[in-house]
Amino acid sequence: MPKFVSACLLAAALLTPARAEFHAVNPEIARAVSEVSADNIAAIEKKLESFRTRHIASDASSPSTGIGAARQWIFDQFKSYSPRLQVRFDSYHVKKQGRVVRDTELVNVVATLPGDVHPDRLILVTGHYDSLVLHRKPNTSPPEVDYTASAAEPFAPGVTDDGSGTAAVLELARVLSSRHFHNTLVFAAFAGEEEGLIGASLFAAHAHDEHWKIDAVLNNDIIGSIVAGNGMENNTSVRVFSEDPIDSPSRELARYIRDAGLLYVPSLGVDLVFRADRFFRGGDHTPLNQAGFAAVRLTTPSENYSHQHTVTDTFENTSPEYATRVARLNAAAAAELAFAPLAPIVDRVVEKGEHKGELAALLTRGKSGYDAKLAWKQDPAEPSLAGYVVTVRSTLAPFWEREIYAGPVTEFTLPNFSIDDVVLGVKAIDNDGNESLVSPYVFRPRALQKIETY
Ligand SMILES: [Zn+2]
Repeated sequence: MPKFVSACLLAAALLTPARAEFHAVNPEIARAVSEVSADNIAAIEKKLESFRTRHIASDASSPSTGIGAARQWIFDQFKSYSPRLQVRFDSYHVKKQGRVVRDTELVNVVATLPGDVHPDRLILVTGHYDSLVLHRKPNTSPPEVDYTASAAEPFAPGVTDDGSGTAAVLELARVLSSRHFHNTLVFAAFAGEEEGLIGASLFAAHAHDEHWKIDAVLNNDIIGSIVAGNGMENNTSVRVFSEDPIDSPSRELARYIRDAGLLYVPSLGVDLVFRADRFFRGGDHTPLNQAGFAAVRLTTPSENYSHQHTVTDTFENTSPEYATRVARLNAAAAAELAFAPLAPIVDRVVEKGEHKGELAALLTRGKSGYDAKLAWKQDPAEPSLAGYVVTVRSTLAPFWEREIYAGPVTEFTLPNFSIDDVVLGVKAIDNDGNESLVSPYVFRPRALQKIETY
């Protein structure tokens, strides 16, 4: 009998199917989380600072400074961690445009740890390794940025933005590449974020065109700052931004990360922000959202704007200890996702009638008309699947409130239960207790009808 089933049955018997009954610590993941090292994070941040600048237009030919030296060092680090990491330069020729001041070879550094069961299913941990110091054009109001002067700035340390995220990506690659997972883990250090999310946009377009199956993107950008410019201090929580709507795949990913944190890094609060990003700010998760993938941004609640895009974004002004805790949250969530079975399919494509081609939830009121009858599909089949858990929450609630073990079935009925007044979802659980992301049954509003008049 799978180890979690007895707990589930007990929970069902007590009519209190709380999350903890299903969600037990995997000792292997706990070990991986504990191996994430603050000393390593600090050493990586110092090294990234030592390249002086990682601006995409900096001299790429120097062996010791500039973006070329930085990306080669990141490549070599990935290579040194494990022979199982497939490391590559993801390279593009970007024309002069917008904030890109000249034709530029733009290079993401990508390391892939192939999964043993579903190598085609990808879990991404990302950050951006490029940096920028903004220079303003004199006597402009409102101030205008001088991107040519910015490109020429010789010292753009970018330690918190985003050496901290890059350090998390590298350290996770080190820790996780000594282990085997079911799904594929991809560790990506993007470039050109500061010029308008360019490296991530090119990567996302390529992934979309090639029909990559990206289940989750954990984008880390600015995870080193613990004192805001107004003096407010917070080193005990991290914000996770996720795009609307309330049951978007990105939102489900955010909930999953929060649950991973509660289990493996309980000292770090995970504050979900139900919004794609901060006002008027951007990040590399957004092009991945635009390409149709679930992607969130992890970032500090204590941003210090005077140390962003300035020469003071140095190692002295960052907290590697805080970045380490955020990296540990990443390790927990990424490892759980890399073990996770594929989430069930809870929609069908309408085959005929006026809504032909639209998606419809596999949800009805059953024969009685007053039940909640849920159905789902597992495609492709999961060989080690144990069963499914139905999740329930109020339409007003941010997080899933109830979990009901349904067993190894693809239909489940909650008698005398209104499908209209709650949100329902379902997730898959395998024989080792690994849990998929939740697939929610989504209400889809219809477009305004076109009424013929005469
Ligand atoms: Zn950034």
